[in-house]
Amino acid sequence: MHLVCSECTVVAAADRLFCDDCGGLLAFELNLAPQSERLREVFAGRRASNDPLDQSGVWRFRELLPPFDPANVVTLRENVLPLYHARIGAEYADAANVTYLHLGMNPTASFKDAGMTVAITHAKARGARIAVCASTGNTAASMAAYAARAGIAALVLVPAGGVSDAKMAQTLDYGAVVAAIDGDFDRALELVRGLDPTRVAIVNSVNPYRIEGQKCAAFALLEARDWEAPEWLVLPGGNLGNASAFGKGFREARALGLIDRIPRIAVVQASGAAPFARLFRDGGELVPVHAQTAATAIKIGAPASWRKALAEVRASNGTVLDVSDDAIAEARAVIGRDGVGCEPASAASLAGLCALRDDGTIAAEADVVLVLTGHVLKDGAYAAAYHASNAHYANAIRSAPTDAALRTLIEEASVMVGGAHV
Ligand SMILES: *Cc1c(COP(=O)(O)O)cnc(C)c1O
Ligand SMILES: [Zn+2]
Repeated sequence: MHLVCSECTVVAAADRLFCDDCGGLLAFELNLAPQSERLREVFAGRRASNDPLDQSGVWRFRELLPPFDPANVVTLRENVLPLYHARIGAEYADAANVTYLHLGMNPTASFKDAGMTVAITHAKARGARIAVCASTGNTAASMAAYAARAGIAALVLVPAGGVSDAKMAQTLDYGAVVAAIDGDFDRALELVRGLDPTRVAIVNSVNPYRIEGQKCAAFALLEARDWEAPEWLVLPGGNLGNASAFGKGFREARALGLIDRIPRIAVVQASGAAPFARLFRDGGELVPVHAQTAATAIKIGAPASWRKALAEVRASNGTVLDVSDDAIAEARAVIGRDGVGCEPASAASLAGLCALRDDGTIAAEADVVLVLTGHVLKDGAYAAAYHASNAHYANAIRSAPTDAALRTLIEEASVMVGGAHV
């Protein structure tokens, strides 16, 4: 396994973040012969083990990762992922066969953990003393947790006022130093990219070790489906590291003979932060925008991994689209009605599926997996505001000041599900 430039394919040194020749992002190249039967058995066997590495949904796939001394591995048993049948969500999108892959069920409640375990393991292995990231909240929480486990200092750059209370609470609890900057995520990432990567471990998704960990969500998904690929994978896109990682994971799984076709990847952006959707429609280079959306985890105007993600979307015969903040808000409430729940950015997946059903891109019978990227408790203020509004799925708090009022409410509630009459 070696590190190459994802743009000019020049071989890169192990501790670089960007290509010395062209400045492009680096990526690991896996050179393994097809060996599906043996790998399937090895991966499955580890599920019964008590070894922390085997219990991790990342390190369980270690034959497909950069090699590390197990003594350096920093794991919180990440990427052990449930698949949930989407009943209400499927009905809402007028689709028959929809499943949620909930990456919010990770140790710090977002998919960032799958990448962070590898990035922080690498930082520890090379003796880094401090890990740094720019974040809208989830990368910060994840980095802070893994850095604490590794005994490495952590510094996060966040947009002042741009991070939810829950994400900030996690990051502070785990002991990271938080620097609130006067600017948005894109500005924070610019500042981080200007640091010397030989002095600090930069763990944003420009770090190729992050992508290696995150690609394991593709392996975990496929394994949970007995190596049957779905037709479509629909996921939100911000900085576009995750779309790149899923695409890489699917391509590698096919090269190894683990699956025989690659799922089509649909990347969904918020309309106020949709430079990638515009690029996909109009062609050319990515034109950064000033991002505006209440889905803060995808409030990114200059996605770093757009070239990688574009290559993966094209290789999968996929698509890119954008949806409004109102569509995201409603889809998020619907996912809640399935008893699942997610944070706002995650619900772009269901809102995107609705749009792709409407325009006929995805057929009603298609086998679709919606990626939920973060947990519902990540943004309580957003949910509270929605339920206090006049929105269609709003579920207002009722008052029951007297016993009589409570009895009336019990009568009413017994013929309602999720705040609606049945
Ligand atoms: C980071 C994040 C995203 C965006 O993922 P990218 O890899 O930046 O495209 C979406 N949803 C949640 C909850 C996230 O934390
Ligand atoms: Zn290059």
